[in-house]
Amino acid sequence: MHTQPELPYRKDALAPYISEKTMDYHYGKHHKGYFDKLNALIVDTPFAQQSLVEIVRSSDGALFNNAAQAWNHILYWDSMSPKTGQMPTGELLNAITRDFGGVDELKSAFTTAALNTFGSGWAWLVINSEKKLAVVSTSNAHNPLEMPGTTPLLACDVWEHAYYLDTQNNRASYLDHFWTVCNWEYVHEQLLKST
Ligand code: MN
Repeated sequence: MHTQPELPYRKDALAPYISEKTMDYHYGKHHKGYFDKLNALIVDTPFAQQSLVEIVRSSDGALFNNAAQAWNHILYWDSMSPKTGQMPTGELLNAITRDFGGVDELKSAFTTAALNTFGSGWAWLVINSEKKLAVVSTSNAHNPLEMPGTTPLLACDVWEHAYYLDTQNNRASYLDHFWTVCNWEYVHEQLLKST
């Protein structure tokens, strides 16, 4: 059985950028629901012995959708922090400057990918198979674990359930809030782990 991890902060910790009400529904209903369905689907199947990442990489259909969403949201919660206004530093800043030209250019590329994702999906900062930082977008539950040699560092959920209670149809305003709470310290740790 797979257990939904605790949130890395209180449900009200990202307010007013991400409200407690959004976290209540997003973590408490949507994310929990993916775990509940995942656990129901793997009973008495060979998947019951696999890790969450192994299931994401070897399943399809409803099992893939629920396993991938269970995994995607864990990275998403870690992508945000109550410590607002962080900026990339050190090796992360060097890598961003090398591959995008600067932090503003990275944020612009990521925001464009998020805003241009049609319908439900995700925007990601990844290390690609050429060992460079890159921005990718995926639809529905799809994620960079499906891309060979690719390591995701940062995730932004652009399903409407991530922002509709706070900013309604205004995904751009949600992206502004996301950057305010962006957990660059976590991204930095993931970058160092990957090299
Ligand atoms: Mn979500």
